[in-house]
Amino acid sequence: MTYILHRQIHGELPVAVGGRGVELFDTNGKAYIDASGGAAVSCLGHNHPDVVEAMKRQAEKLAYAHTSFFTSEPAEALAERLVKAAPKGISHTYFVSGGSEAVEAALKMARQYFVEMGEPQRRHIIARRQSYHGNTLGALSAGGNEWRRDQFRPLLIETHHIDPCYAYRHQRPDENAEAYGLRAAQQLEDKILELGPDTVIAFVAEPVVGATAGAVPPVSGYFKRIREICDRYGVLLILDEVMCGMGRTGTLFACEQDGIAPDLVAIAKGLGGGYQPIGAVLLARRIYDAFANGSGFFQHGHTYMGHPMACAAALAVQEVIERDDLLANVREMGAHLRARLQARFGNHPHVGDIRGRGLFMGLELVADRGTKEPFDPALKLHAKVKKEAMARGLMVYPMGGTIDGRRGNHVLLAPPFIVDKPTVDTIVERLGDAIDAAIG
Ligand code: PMP
Repeated sequence: MTYILHRQIHGELPVAVGGRGVELFDTNGKAYIDASGGAAVSCLGHNHPDVVEAMKRQAEKLAYAHTSFFTSEPAEALAERLVKAAPKGISHTYFVSGGSEAVEAALKMARQYFVEMGEPQRRHIIARRQSYHGNTLGALSAGGNEWRRDQFRPLLIETHHIDPCYAYRHQRPDENAEAYGLRAAQQLEDKILELGPDTVIAFVAEPVVGATAGAVPPVSGYFKRIREICDRYGVLLILDEVMCGMGRTGTLFACEQDGIAPDLVAIAKGLGGGYQPIGAVLLARRIYDAFANGSGFFQHGHTYMGHPMACAAALAVQEVIERDDLLANVREMGAHLRARLQARFGNHPHVGDIRGRGLFMGLELVADRGTKEPFDPALKLHAKVKKEAMARGLMVYPMGGTIDGRRGNHVLLAPPFIVDKPTVDTIVERLGDAIDAAIG
């Protein structure tokens, strides 16, 4: 019996009572390998002693101080660490409590920037069809995930969507990856020109698409072209690295691998690794300066922003990642995971694509490999894969994402950065069994 409104009303959920490293345990003592980090959150695994200790120390000192009265030591230290490691041009951090809040704040920062700069006519946001930016109304407006948006549409602000960079389905047989990337990016320039360049605030995108598509990386050159187009028309580039950021792809920021720097970047999940709810927006100096030289105020705020306990936990998570050189392990284990997935599913009749970066990998499930036809959404294959995986003691993140306006199926893998080779092998073995059992 539960008194909680869970997202999925049907079905009994196991009760999680403990965790250690890459595993979670339920009340029956059953162990689950956390191969998805929850939803790409638990980057350090569970119950890391150094993080637990840091949280205890902070709880004993001070749990909460409102940010309009005080700053705090852990918030200052975390902000300094993030800014120093951030892409070029980033000068400040704005703390919030999660991913949707981070995207929401970034959108408002972008709008206020143009108001401060004397361009209040800029009002349009451009994003991509295959994207998820959060569930609050502003972030949901930016996202392109139709089934999440549908019933809330009258409440959403108007945004404009272009195609994602999705080589598996959109790259033509007669073009190479680079040519495809330029063609995909051209849609942004076309949309800016259609709307009127001086009416566009920002373009928002996930460097590696997560929940809607299962770890789809851009082709090389795509984001360089996007950056050039934004610069040409004075449009801000907001990157949503809520899922793919903070080391998940093998570099602290996913966009480092695309050789670009955003004006605003939203981070969350891996920042606190699930030990506390925390997110942040990192902003470029020119945005900070516009506020500082203008109204002197960012017109936003939340009660729990910069929460000392959350910042202390996130600081400890980030310190352990650096101290233990875990990004090197992300790259090494990422390559191993990719090779194992390739070996197990490379010729699988229902796995159309194996993709990703670092320890952020996705499989796209298809009814027919040749035609790339998705499974009938009514089969709810993603839910079956999840059930079969849980029965085998494996947490993966299967989603019925959006493929060109239709529902498709993919499985997202995002194991903790501490994962080792034998565990990766077990993950792939159990996943293979779960997918085969779900498809039947
Ligand atoms: N942006 C992206 C890319 C995400 O993956 C998510 C969460 N899945 C969000 C935003 C929203 O984050 P939260 O659930 O913490 O509000």
